[in-house]
Amino acid sequence: MPRPKPGVMDIAAYVPGRESAPGVEKVYKLSSNETPLGASPAVAAAIADVAGRLELYPDGAAHKLRDAIARAHGLNPGNILCSNGSDELLGLLCQTYLSPGDEGIFTEHGFLVYRIQIMAAGATPVVVRETDFTADVDAMLAAVTEKTRIVFLANPNNPTGTYLPVSEVRRLQAGLPRHVLLVIDAAYAEYVRRNDYEAGIELVSGNSNVVMTRTFSKIHGLAGLRIGWMYAPEAVIDAVNRIRGPFNVNAMAIVAGAAAIGDRAHVDAAIDHNDKWLARVSEGLTALGLEVTPSVGNFVLMHFPDAPGKTAADADAYLVARGFVLRRLTGYGLPNALRMTIGSEEANLGTLEALRGFMAVTS
Ligand SMILES: *Cc1c(COP(=O)(O)O)cnc(C)c1O
Repeated sequence: MPRPKPGVMDIAAYVPGRESAPGVEKVYKLSSNETPLGASPAVAAAIADVAGRLELYPDGAAHKLRDAIARAHGLNPGNILCSNGSDELLGLLCQTYLSPGDEGIFTEHGFLVYRIQIMAAGATPVVVRETDFTADVDAMLAAVTEKTRIVFLANPNNPTGTYLPVSEVRRLQAGLPRHVLLVIDAAYAEYVRRNDYEAGIELVSGNSNVVMTRTFSKIHGLAGLRIGWMYAPEAVIDAVNRIRGPFNVNAMAIVAGAAAIGDRAHVDAAIDHNDKWLARVSEGLTALGLEVTPSVGNFVLMHFPDAPGKTAADADAYLVARGFVLRRLTGYGLPNALRMTIGSEEANLGTLEALRGFMAVTS
C-alpha cells in the first residue's frame, strides 16, 4: 500500500477545541478564542452579493482583500499575501523554507501548528524552554544551530496569553543569522493594550528575514471563513506565491475580510469588551484561589491545584456538565491548566459562578 513519506506518521494531528457538551442544552463555547461579538454586520451583505456568482473562480491574487488590509494598516499591498486561515500560511512558510535535516524553532508552550508544519516539511522541530510561561529570547538564540532555518514566535502566545515587548523581539531578530526566517504570529495583536508591544510591522519593514502573520479568525469573528494574511518582504511573498494554491482564498472570504477590516467601530467594540472582561475574569479567577497567568489576549490561562478532585481534568468535567466548554491543554504541556476564551457577559459570569461551585466542593 502507499506509504506516507518519512516523518508523516510521527505527527500528532491537531485536536481542535471541543464544541459540545453532551446532554447539556445551553453550551457556552469558550474553547477556541472566538469572539462573542460575532462578525461585523457588513460581512453578511458582502457575502450575499457574492453568493449568486459562485460558479466563478475567485481573484487568485485577492486584490480587494489585500487592498483593504493595506489601507487599514498603512501597508503596501505588494507586501501582503492572503491565505486560507493563517494556519495555511504557517504551512506554506515551512514548505518554502525547510528541507529535511533543517531545524525549526518554537517555544515550550507555543502554538501546536508550528510543530506539525515543521514536521510536515520533513524538518526537525526544536522546542525551547520558556520562563514564566513566556518566550525567552536568550534560550531561543541559544537553540540556533547551523541547521536552523525558521523561528516561530507567537506574540502574544496562545495558550499562555503572555507577550514579548518589541525591544525583546528586536533583540531576537538581531541575534538571528540573516538566512533564518523569523515568523511573528500576531493572531491576537488587536487585543493587546501595552505601550511596549508592536505586532511586527516595523520589524518586517526594516529586515529581509522577518514576516508577520495575522488572522481574521479572532477579533474579526470570521474563523468559519478561514482568512489569514502575512506582511512580508517581497522576496518572501514571491517565493510563497509560487507554491500556494492558485485560488487559496475563496470568493466569500475575499469580500468578507474586506468588509470586516473596514468596520473599525466593530473592532473597537470587540477591544472594549475584551478589556473590560479580561480584567474581570482574571480577577474573578484569582479570587477563587486559582493561579492566573497574566494575559494580553482574548483568553486566560488558569492553573489548578494538584490535589485530588481539584485538577484541571476534574474542573473541565465539572464545567462541561454545566455547559461551559473551556480548552484542555495536555497537548501543550500544560496538563493541569485550562484556557478560557473571554466570552459574553453571560458566559463569563456563568463560568466564574460554576468554578466557584467547583472550588467549594469538598471531596
Ligand atoms: C487562532 C490562532 C491562529 C489563527 O489561525 P487561523 O488559521 O487564521 O484561524 C494563528 N496562530 C495562533 C497562535 C492562534 O492562536
